[in-house]
Amino acid sequence: MKCGAMKILFVASEAYPLVKTGGLGDVLNSLPHALHGRGADIRLVLPGYRDLLRQLGEVRILGWLDVRGAEGTVGTRVLETRHPDFDFPLWVVDCPALYDRPGNPYLQAGGQDWPDNAERFAVFARVAALLAQDALELGWQPAVVHTHDWQTGLVSAFLADQPARPKTVFTIHNLAYGGHFSHTDFVRLQLPSHWWTPEGVEFHGGFSMLKAGIVYADAVTTVSPTYAAEICTPAFGHGLDGLLLSRQHKLHGILNGIDTRLWNPSTDANLPAHYSAGRVQPGKRRNKQALLDRFLPQAGEAAMRAPLLGLVGRLVEQKGIDWVLAAIPVLLAESDARFVLLGSGQPVYEQKLARLARQFPDRVFVVIGYDEALAHQIEAGVDVFLMPSRFEPCGLNQMYSLRYGTPPVVFKTGGLADTVVDADAEALAEGSATGFVFDVPGVAAFLEAIRRALDLYRQPAAWRRLQQAGMRQSFDWADSAAHYLDLYSS
Ligand code: ADP
Repeated sequence: MKCGAMKILFVASEAYPLVKTGGLGDVLNSLPHALHGRGADIRLVLPGYRDLLRQLGEVRILGWLDVRGAEGTVGTRVLETRHPDFDFPLWVVDCPALYDRPGNPYLQAGGQDWPDNAERFAVFARVAALLAQDALELGWQPAVVHTHDWQTGLVSAFLADQPARPKTVFTIHNLAYGGHFSHTDFVRLQLPSHWWTPEGVEFHGGFSMLKAGIVYADAVTTVSPTYAAEICTPAFGHGLDGLLLSRQHKLHGILNGIDTRLWNPSTDANLPAHYSAGRVQPGKRRNKQALLDRFLPQAGEAAMRAPLLGLVGRLVEQKGIDWVLAAIPVLLAESDARFVLLGSGQPVYEQKLARLARQFPDRVFVVIGYDEALAHQIEAGVDVFLMPSRFEPCGLNQMYSLRYGTPPVVFKTGGLADTVVDADAEALAEGSATGFVFDVPGVAAFLEAIRRALDLYRQPAAWRRLQQAGMRQSFDWADSAAHYLDLYSS
């Protein structure tokens, strides 16, 4: 289905490769790209962070917009640029006082939030809402404004009161980040006082930008059908389950795809050897060898035969890192497994993982940091991928691992439940199994699932079938884009 030239304004706080802290960044590259491929006319507006501005080539000033900030009026400049990774113009909100800072878009070097995040993203939202109404008189009026996560939650709220306005869609990529701020911030930012009710943005004495998106957007989506159902329950709702339940009529779960241009084991430029579902070996083995060579230069045949388990991700409670930390010593004692772990996050997890690596230097390899190339090499080079998230809105890494012939071990939640088929007897027999799913939260069930994986790994024919079933799954963005287009036009 083509959508003609439906104009869609994307508003987001990150987009790969310009700025990315997690899956949100990936989606903001892939989804607009897929929609553009189906004929949509897209603009993507981002804040002008220092690192982002530095990556831009030629820019054109579209105009100036003054909006209300925390202390009075804030002057912003809207830039337009073209970037080789985007097939449509990018718009950048340039405001040095708010965005020209080093490092992470949301956090200071010490890991605390920027103290003026309320102002930074309220100003961004005000400017985006003005652009959505063609305040710069560019002759480009979107039919739909698609906003993402708490940083853009106020956009729908600002637009809600406008008479002739585009439709608004708000996507929750992770309900755990609520964009909570104080009443003082609310007052200083001069947000409309009628928003200050439990039916508006008020949340436990403060206000939540995420809640604003849920309340005021015409449609709310989240990134997998299972997560869409889970967030309407107290266990997953972060205090917003009641609200979400009452808005179920406008809540949709649309599974993310993965970027198969970047994540394709037969072309991936980060890999030392390529392979495909039709011919997994010797390519995948060569990737394992290269990964082992990096961490264990004297690795012999025994290390190649032993199972290698990997993990890539943010080291936070959500990702079940404590379960991984508890499981590794048990597995080291009872099997010949080795581990490669890449991530950064909470200092306590970083330290504990680094300590494990020091204790077992020839079996546990840990890289603390963010390393895109190594993430690809781990997906390709390990035998089993670990992703025991307590909750997972969609999750990309398990889809990458499926595509790279690396069966994942996952907890049955959110997008993990929607994308991995457990290797139980029946699924194995019919060839639909793609990984190992445990459904009781905790280390014991996680360990049981890993043991099942290690058992099957010792059965080469069954293992190959499992790998190939995963590699043949389609997680194409074209499918997701079609769902979003249906939603935009409904
Ligand atoms: P989340 O968005 O919760 O962080 P996802 O699985 O949806 O989790 O997406 C994570 C994305 O970030 C993936 O593209 C993954 O490869 C990448 N990633 C996470 N941590 C790292 C890291 N330390 N180095 C490289 N890539 C990482």
